[in-house]
Amino acid sequence: MSPDDLRQRIEYFKDLGVKELYRREPVVAPMVVPVAAASPVAVELPSLAPIVDTLVQISQDIGDCTRCALHKGRNKIVFGDGNSQAQLVFVGEGPGADEDAQGIPFVGRAGQLLTQMIEGTAKKEGISLTRADVYICNVVKCRPPENRTPESQEMEICGQFLFRQLQVIRPKAICALGSTAAKALLGGKDGVTKLRGKWHKWHDIPLIVTYHPSYLLRAYNVEAKREAWEDLKKALHFVYD
Ligand code: URA
Repeated sequence: MSPDDLRQRIEYFKDLGVKELYRREPVVAPMVVPVAAASPVAVELPSLAPIVDTLVQISQDIGDCTRCALHKGRNKIVFGDGNSQAQLVFVGEGPGADEDAQGIPFVGRAGQLLTQMIEGTAKKEGISLTRADVYICNVVKCRPPENRTPESQEMEICGQFLFRQLQVIRPKAICALGSTAAKALLGGKDGVTKLRGKWHKWHDIPLIVTYHPSYLLRAYNVEAKREAWEDLKKALHFVYD
């Protein structure tokens, strides 16, 4: 790879918000440059994550990850679930106990509510859609201890894989579930109440923020439930009309 190609590739990842790049083994053995070679000296650079990225490649790059402390308590890495060509991607915060046990995002109580919301709202709105048609993933892929909020460093390390997932899928819209996902994707400090109800963008992809289903499970959040259904309706019509 030429230095220009490398620079371009690094710019590409910078644009995605990826702050750290990890080296893979060089595909080509380094060129041996004779001492007397004419300058400038040609140097074979190591290969980085490919421009033609895939979900399989991202999952392989995550590997048996130990990049942050969350790996210590995990049973399974929860990469993502659903249609790799989905038009709509939901992003949550991080796996809970059920997700950690099964390796699939949003399969516990909050997940069942999310599935019900997606399928129920779609049906009511005359849109033929099941959970399997969308893609669901999280900001961090390992369960935080006691389901605590992921720390900013954990989000930054794991976020690079989330950004690559979104870039590969390139959905028509993204739905951020809760403040943590919203912060990871939009930056800034605003929470759901401030961000919901209007369209934002992650790079050039329209993004809507709504309440996390765990929050909606709390009995007193009646108004939030109504608002979440409104947000979802908005997202579904935008994507599937
Ligand atoms: N909460 C999340 O944010 N993600 C899951 O996968 C499950 C619960």
